[in-house]
Amino acid sequence: MDSKEIIYEELMNRMKKGVCPICDFVEFRLAEALERFLYEGINTPHTRAKIEWTNGFCNHHAHRLSELGDPLSHAILYHDFMNNVMKDVPDKKSKTDRSNHKECFFCDIQKSNEDDYTKAFLEFYQNEEFSSRYEQENSPLCVPHLITIQKIRFANKKTVSRIVEATMEKYKALNQHLSEIKRKSDYRNTHETWTEEEKEAWKKAVFTFNAHPGIRP
Ligand SMILES: [Zn+2]
Ligand SMILES: [Zn+2]
Repeated sequence: MDSKEIIYEELMNRMKKGVCPICDFVEFRLAEALERFLYEGINTPHTRAKIEWTNGFCNHHAHRLSELGDPLSHAILYHDFMNNVMKDVPDKKSKTDRSNHKECFFCDIQKSNEDDYTKAFLEFYQNEEFSSRYEQENSPLCVPHLITIQKIRFANKKTVSRIVEATMEKYKALNQHLSEIKRKSDYRNTHETWTEEEKEAWKKAVFTFNAHPGIRP
């Protein structure tokens, strides 16, 4: 688990990247966890038991892991997974459902990091250095993480309102870029050039509205 100091520094630095700092940090730690798993985790009994129980990995994390390559680790894991399928599927008495996957080993890591970082964001927001960085930079929290912060129990209401307000300003700016894309796409205005921000705004909108890939269903 990350110390408070590390989370603070990481979130502060990620506010300069133009994307949700929480998504970005969760994604960074996930990438590390996937690498670490292939490097050392695959033969850890505790990890293997968890993977067995969840019927492998969820769709998103299975594909993320496979993108890292590593034929041997995949052969070891999937040999077991497929053996289970060949044992259970033809067996009419088997009660094990091999058609889906429970929240996987990486889902757990991701969830616990999201939980830590959203709570930390709220706590750090009382610090002027942190809040003014967020208010100045153009890296809005995504909608799912903003709402998660809003729902934190016993949160300081003033701080939550301040975060919501600052984020709405950023959403408003994003929507202005989207309006410009619409306007400039009209045949009467196609001669107008798109700004750098407008070129990116439609993609940024997807990341902001839906969070980063694999963060939320
Ligand atoms: Zn986010
Ligand atoms: Zn997963």
